Amino acid sequence: MRYHCYWLFGWHYGLDEVDIVLDSSGRSWTTSQSKSSNTVYTGSRLPIDAVINHEAGHYLGLMHVNWEYNVMGDSWRHHHTNGSTARTYFGEDASHGSRVLYGSQNSTFNDVSASHWRRTGASGEYSSHGRVRIRNAANTATLSGITIAGEPGYRVNRGSTVRPEFTIENNGKQTHNNVSYGIYISSNDYISYSDTRIGGGLFGSIHPADVYTTTIPVTIPNNLNPGQNYWLGIIVDENNTISEVSGSNNRAYIPIRVD
Ligand SMILES: [Zn+2]
Repeated sequence: MRYHCYWLFGWHYGLDEVDIVLDSSGRSWTTSQSKSSNTVYTGSRLPIDAVINHEAGHYLGLMHVNWEYNVMGDSWRHHHTNGSTARTYFGEDASHGSRVLYGSQNSTFNDVSASHWRRTGASGEYSSHGRVRIRNAANTATLSGITIAGEPGYRVNRGSTVRPEFTIENNGKQTHNNVSYGIYISSNDYISYSDTRIGGGLFGSIHPADVYTTTIPVTIPNNLNPGQNYWLGIIVDENNTISEVSGSNNRAYIPIRVD
C-alpha cells in the first residue's frame, strides 16, 4: 500500500495505491469458479477470486476476523455453491465492516444468501471454516459421514427426522423479517424449484450484522431409493418477496446417502 499523510496548512492523508501480488511459486491458481478446479472441492487449484476478495477487504481497511464466518478469515472456504459452480463472495461481515467505515449507499441494496460453509473455530486471527453438517433430531450429535462425489455427505434413514445445517446471511443493509425458505431433495447437486419440497417455513429475522448458521428439522421421505445418493438443499427467499441484487446465491446443498 502507498499512502500519504502530511501537514501543509491542514492535514492531508489517504491511500494512493494498493497492489495485490499473487505468488505463483509452488502454487497453481485458477480463475475458474468450477468446483472441479477448486482445491476445497474436487479440484487441485487455488481460486484467485477468494484471495482477491480477502485482500480487497484489507484495501478497504478491514482487518482479520476470527469470531464469525467471514471472508476476512478463511477465505478459501467461503462460497455460494450450487451445481458445479462455487463462487467466493464478500459476505455479511465484510459488507457490514465496510458500511461502518464508509457508510451505506443511498440506493436500495437487498441480498440474502445461503451457504454450505460455516465457522468451526479460530486459527490465530482467522476464522476456521468447514462444511455444514447434518445433525440428529435432538441436535445432540452429527450423523455418520460419507464421501459423495468427492464432497462430505451424511447417511440418513428414510422416515427419520434430521437437522440439516445451513448458513444464512443478509449481505444488504436492512433487516429482513419473515424470510421464507424451503428444504428440497434433489437427485443431483443442483438445487432448484423442480426438486421435491420436503419442508420449509420462515426465518423470523435475518439481521445484516450477524451470520446465522442454524439447523432445520425435516423428515426424510420414505419413497426415496435406499442406497442412492441425493442432495438435501435449501432455497431462501423461496417465495421471492425480497427484491435482491442477486437471486443466484440463495441455494445450498448437502450430499446424503439414503439408507
Ligand atoms: Zn489477510
